[in-house]
Amino acid sequence: MNRKILCVLVPVLLLQCALPVQAALRVVACEPEWGALAQELGGTSVDVSVATTALQDPHQIQAKPSLVARMRNADLVICTGAELEVGWLPILLQQSGNRKIQSGQAGNFSAADFVRKLQVPANVDRSQGDVHAAGNPHVQTDPRNIARIAAAMTARLQQLDPAQASGYAQRAADFARRWEDAMRRWTGQAAKLKGVTVVSQHNGFVYLYDWLGLKEVAVLEPKPGVEPSVSHLQSVLSTLKATPATMVLYAAYQDPRPSEWLSRNSGIAAVKVPFTVGGSEGAADLFGLFDDTIARLLAVSKR
Ligand SMILES: [Zn+2]
Repeated sequence: MNRKILCVLVPVLLLQCALPVQAALRVVACEPEWGALAQELGGTSVDVSVATTALQDPHQIQAKPSLVARMRNADLVICTGAELEVGWLPILLQQSGNRKIQSGQAGNFSAADFVRKLQVPANVDRSQGDVHAAGNPHVQTDPRNIARIAAAMTARLQQLDPAQASGYAQRAADFARRWEDAMRRWTGQAAKLKGVTVVSQHNGFVYLYDWLGLKEVAVLEPKPGVEPSVSHLQSVLSTLKATPATMVLYAAYQDPRPSEWLSRNSGIAAVKVPFTVGGSEGAADLFGLFDDTIARLLAVSKR
């Protein structure tokens, strides 16, 4: 007997025929990279919504009512943590009235908790600008961090949705295999970037540099989150006379003008990197994010 006939003949099964057997876990990701990872690991067991786009500055998001509404209905909120969203996420969580996603609950996942942080300050002095006391939060620029976070995220999905635990395990194993292969390819391609000197517009790439062995010689922002003045740009320019750099990197969400100014005045290339999924046409998913980032760096490196 086929399923259609069964549904008509057996009333008790009607509900099961009309509704999916298991409602998907409602996931809200603060940034596109975590939305993409949740989708990779959750498949059809998750319903993912992303709070921001690659063209928005994740340090400074407006806590809009539409975001509060999404948080209200979420089973799991996945953010970077390490104070990246300190200016907007606490307001959203509080206004959501959703106990499941508050800090410390299983429905609150901070990706940066699961990796070794770089640039953790010995003491926090807020006069030094938008300093992150928990260390540099931009952990998604190193694919080794993505692998660690994927493992932790899988465990959290299984905890919240135990009925689908074996499905999550299967997807995680499949992702880990494809990610390992991709990382081998990327490190091979990027071998010639080792030791290349670079300038950053914002200190958003320390994990990328740590992974590939790039050497940062200057940062255009005088303090994190502070737009560089012309006099600060001039001082970076003179630094480069003593310590030349090959390129200046800025993220897709940033105003390109400081990097373009440096490029014009020093002759080094200004490179826009996607920074997260959706930051460029090539960065359509997590794999594309690193394919495209490395391609852009290789295109301007002369070594
Ligand atoms: Zn930052």
